[in-house]
Amino acid sequence: QYSFKRKPEWLRKKISFSINKELESLLEQHNISTVCQEAMCPNISECFSKKQATFFIMGTECTRRCTFCAVDKGHPKPLDHQEPANIAKAVKIMGLRHVVITSPTRDDLSDGGAQHFCKTVQAIKDMDNSIVVEILIPDLQEDKDSIKQIANSDADIVAHNLETIPRLYHIRKGASYKRSLNVLKMLKEYNSKIATKSGIMVGLGEKRDEVLELMQHLLDVGCEYFSIGQYLQPTQKHENIVEYVHPSEFETLRIIGLDMGFRYIQSSPYTRSSYMAHEYLEHQNG
Ligand code: SF4
Ligand code: SF4
Repeated sequence: QYSFKRKPEWLRKKISFSINKELESLLEQHNISTVCQEAMCPNISECFSKKQATFFIMGTECTRRCTFCAVDKGHPKPLDHQEPANIAKAVKIMGLRHVVITSPTRDDLSDGGAQHFCKTVQAIKDMDNSIVVEILIPDLQEDKDSIKQIANSDADIVAHNLETIPRLYHIRKGASYKRSLNVLKMLKEYNSKIATKSGIMVGLGEKRDEVLELMQHLLDVGCEYFSIGQYLQPTQKHENIVEYVHPSEFETLRIIGLDMGFRYIQSSPYTRSSYMAHEYLEHQNG
């Protein structure tokens, strides 16, 4: 039914990866990585022009080995204590209004990097409290103190992605579906005011019923925001694509999910967890 030699028509968006040279050297100069550039995200021109970007903190090497992910696997370097201030500086120079901060999983750090996340949020908020800051965190090995710190940071949204349905968790090496759900639950328990968000990729062989079940599990732990996007294989060595999900299925899932109780859902082939991130909070009150 699906041909993988050619992407379907709805995934043939013209992509321009070119970002302004000045900006590129500024980021380089401050030793700052954006997920937008690292992942060669197809939405880069659109997001940067809308004053949004996703920063990758705590290095670009991950201690886990998910088979779908293009992030380098290896031994991360020690934390750069200048990083929170540098990120705040970059946010200012880029004139960003909505910032997403994420990191690789740092199982090598005793707090999984929770404190570094909080310091980065604080540095941005100290500079300009009106900038919306969203953090997309790893599971922090479900550590109570780390999650408590994150829940009580000044972040406007805390996201943790389930990535896929439980049956396919062999692709999320070192992670557990139950643990990830519990992280979202604990965030709410420690701070009921914090907005939580999660996301998955589709096209890995999941069935609609399985996605709906996952959505219910998220609602059961108080998660308000949800994103669904098509999985795209970063290289031949990564997990295979099983299906290019039709845009109409994304829309069906979005409508059912809203009906089930999510406040806002982004669901389309190009949706990424940080895509159009500002739209979620616009739906915070209704
Ligand atoms: Fe960056 Fe996210 Fe936009 Fe992609 S969708 S360009 S990662 S902010
Ligand atoms: Fe990639 Fe996150 Fe998995 Fe690390 S934990 S390999 S960054 S998806």
